[in-house]
Amino acid sequence: KTKYKSDIEIAQESTMKPIFEIASKLGLSEDDLELYGKYKAKLSSDALKKIATKQSGKVILVTAINPTAAGEGKSTVTVGLGDAFNRIGKKAMIAMREPSLGPTMGIKGGATGGGYAQVLPMEDINLHFTGDLHAITTANNALAAFIDNHLQQGNELQIDQRRIVWKRALDLNDRALRKVIIGLGGPAQGVPREDGFDITVASEIMAVLCLSTDLQDLKNRLARMVVAYNYQKQPVTVGDLKVEGALTLLLKDAVKPNLVQTIEGTPALIHGGPFANIAHGCNSAIATLTASKLADYVVTEAGFGADLGAEKFLHIKTRSAGFKPEAVVIVATIRALKMHGGMLKTELVNENVQALMAGFTNLKKHIETVQSFGLPAVVAINKFVTDSDAEVKALLDWCSEQNISVALTEVWEKGGEGGIPLAEKVIEAIENQDNKFAPLYDLSDSIADKVRTIVQKVYGGKDVEFSSKAKKQLKDFDSYGWSHLPVCMAKTQYSLSDDPSKLGRPTDFTITIREFKPSIGAGFIVALTGDVMTMPGLPKKPAALNMNVDEKGNAVGLF
Ligand code: ADP
Repeated sequence: KTKYKSDIEIAQESTMKPIFEIASKLGLSEDDLELYGKYKAKLSSDALKKIATKQSGKVILVTAINPTAAGEGKSTVTVGLGDAFNRIGKKAMIAMREPSLGPTMGIKGGATGGGYAQVLPMEDINLHFTGDLHAITTANNALAAFIDNHLQQGNELQIDQRRIVWKRALDLNDRALRKVIIGLGGPAQGVPREDGFDITVASEIMAVLCLSTDLQDLKNRLARMVVAYNYQKQPVTVGDLKVEGALTLLLKDAVKPNLVQTIEGTPALIHGGPFANIAHGCNSAIATLTASKLADYVVTEAGFGADLGAEKFLHIKTRSAGFKPEAVVIVATIRALKMHGGMLKTELVNENVQALMAGFTNLKKHIETVQSFGLPAVVAINKFVTDSDAEVKALLDWCSEQNISVALTEVWEKGGEGGIPLAEKVIEAIENQDNKFAPLYDLSDSIADKVRTIVQKVYGGKDVEFSSKAKKQLKDFDSYGWSHLPVCMAKTQYSLSDDPSKLGRPTDFTITIREFKPSIGAGFIVALTGDVMTMPGLPKKPAALNMNVDEKGNAVGLF
């Protein structure tokens, strides 16, 4: 193990270029940047306006098979593919999510790529970065304070305090805050009620920021957010409280995308990071659209496997931001496929071609799903040093027998050089395969039919059942005029079904929708298949135990 350097060691040994040099490669001047130190910058609103009319480059989505607990390397492949495009002389850019401090301090696993495929400065990006998450936290909690003050000052909107759905937020994993009682201590201390905290990335404001296309759109979406229901059970919105202007003000800088660079100097926009269950799990639309104006190839990712992140990217993000992807890369690892083929987690380091073959079914399903959207799919085998030659050969052979475009990808070990075969396959797929991109459902379909389409066409399930609560909600939503919205599924990432233990390619299963959660500002209806954790807890040994700063103030132990 000691033979390989840790992500942070590699990151700290790399030399960064001043960010204006990276920007100038994109045709941006120093005036277009708002500098946050030497190596980070936001793009100014004027710059965003200036480039808006440019022709768009090609957007490539990176997704994965159903992940195992280890993470399959989507971010790593995203970064490495961007670097690889630049190495073969293409003007490329990366658009990725910003990490959340909750998982960073909790479980090992950064969100800035790994090995020689990383974005820099990784310490800053993984810690406070340019403050976007703090701004979102503040906007979220300002709104909570406005709601409680409304109750305190006479409750003109007749908000039913038992039906306030807006929660407070914090960008940490803190299970003790999941349910709290606030307002105790008598009339001067507010109106007592039950409340709770979500992690910031689960706040609807995060989803709103990520789907907004400009400041005005942001304000309109914030105004539409439902915070509570009144005594007549009608929705009460931010617009009713008249605070959308204040919230937009708190977010005026957070809405601008952040420019950084990879180890190899490829420009990257890192912006926004909504949960991939309760929200859509993609970086901001502004970052993706901006990158597409500045580069010929944009590599971007969506959370979890193709059944979750990619489905939402294709149904929610592309629709609301108005663009079309050109190809989808599906990241698979041999160890995860072996797990899908029935191997125990503890045995994955051992060669087992049979288990690998059995696990192919999971990958196959995701390829079919991507193709059903009318898009070319390219498989990236994210190579681990523990993968045996026989296993790699078996996987490559299987793909070529079935006419599946595939590339062995070694970006973790070799940086962009290790991603050139993948970049070439992606270009080939874009140039030679038909792109007939179309969503699988229409917005005019009923919410129930949208869910059914996803369950049957994306998960490969038999049918969907709705709890009596969910059925009742659908009737209410119809009366509120929300039925035209797309659906955002909240499901386990580990299985195509709603049962995390069903690996591979389960069939004949039924998905149960327990409840819906409207995110009207973001512009989708969340369908909950089980209990979804919106405030994670810390594990027995949090990653924080390994973290420190040295005498010079450098980060230690951030992965
Ligand atoms: P995901 O985006 O799918 O969650 P990441 O790209 O963040 O996954 O990778 C998760 C972790 O796995 C990172 O710490 C990264 O360094 C490590 N990793 C990724 N690919 C490889 C590889 N090929 N070999 C060894 N470690 C890897």
